[in-house]
Amino acid sequence: MSIVKTALVNCSRCGKEHEITIYKSINVADDAAMKQRVLDGSLFLWNCPDCGAANLARYECLYHDPDARFMAWLLPFERVSEAEMQAISLHAKALGAYTLRRCADVGELIEKVRIQDAGLDDVAIEICKFVIRGELEQKRAKESDSPAVDPKLLHFHRQDRDGLSFTFPSGGQMTSLTIGRNVYDDALGIISRNPSLRPEEGFVQVDSVWLSTRIR
Ligand SMILES: [Zn+2]
Repeated sequence: MSIVKTALVNCSRCGKEHEITIYKSINVADDAAMKQRVLDGSLFLWNCPDCGAANLARYECLYHDPDARFMAWLLPFERVSEAEMQAISLHAKALGAYTLRRCADVGELIEKVRIQDAGLDDVAIEICKFVIRGELEQKRAKESDSPAVDPKLLHFHRQDRDGLSFTFPSGGQMTSLTIGRNVYDDALGIISRNPSLRPEEGFVQVDSVWLSTRIR
């Protein structure tokens, strides 16, 4: 079951107030179209009827895929209800063997769903991203005109025959980069040897910041 509400928001361009639909909680088991709207980001976009501007709607949304035993909670605001988080964590724990993730923005949520769909481990993906950032920084040290990469904007895209591809904005456009499957397999090996690289219980925000607190 999905929980849908309405909210009053102001257009970022013309400032006019409009009522939009927001999704507090979505269950993708019985709604494949809803899942697609998460993956293409359209669930979080609204067009202003007055000026036509495309606006990003910032709201809390609990993404639930019961078949995959996976929940990702999009919490774009610093302040969250600890009581609500505790209640949902306990509920998921009672259901058993759930993966719970916290996401700070829509890009992170889409990435987590893609990783889940590809059957990959998100900690191993963060290690791959750490490796990629290191290589891009080395390249940047040699070629000063190559642009810097914001770790928050480097995201897993998909897995195919050539390996794992990632995207990041560079010079005003999205750039794609592919790494071999061996990098990912090495990351899995590192995780199996380091218990500290397993996320805690509850809704953990597994990202570059989380990883940096665990590897030196
Ligand atoms: Zn407007």
